[in-house]
Amino acid sequence: MDCLFCKIANKQISSNIVYEDDEIAAFTDVSPKAPVHILIIPKKHIPTVLDLTVEDCALIGRLYMIANKIATDKKIDKSGFRLVMNCNRDAGQSVFHIHLHMLGGRVMSWPPG
Ligand code: AMP
Repeated sequence: MDCLFCKIANKQISSNIVYEDDEIAAFTDVSPKAPVHILIIPKKHIPTVLDLTVEDCALIGRLYMIANKIATDKKIDKSGFRLVMNCNRDAGQSVFHIHLHMLGGRVMSWPPG
């Protein structure tokens, strides 16, 4: 499948992986928007949030558990961080394999642009 994040998950394309297990990989964003900017992905190819099924519920829950662990590892748990999953055009989704952005290490404004 011609999917950038599938290729990262199966190591056809190199990345800076900070966490990996059978179902999930997390790697640093190539164009970071904060001092800590990590993408947490399921290895299963799911194009957008709209493609989730009830069978994916536990998997999506695990993305958040991994975010929890990474926040502690990167020492941004107490200062805080933002988790974002963009969907389709208006949100600016550019890679159609779902990914949870973890942004931290600086104060962020609200609402996002
Ligand atoms: P989105 O716009 O929400 O689809 O986010 C896609 C993200 O993937 C962007 O923040 C990009 O900087 C990031 N990205 C694109 N290519 C790579 C890559 N090869 N390795 C790591 N991150 C990437």
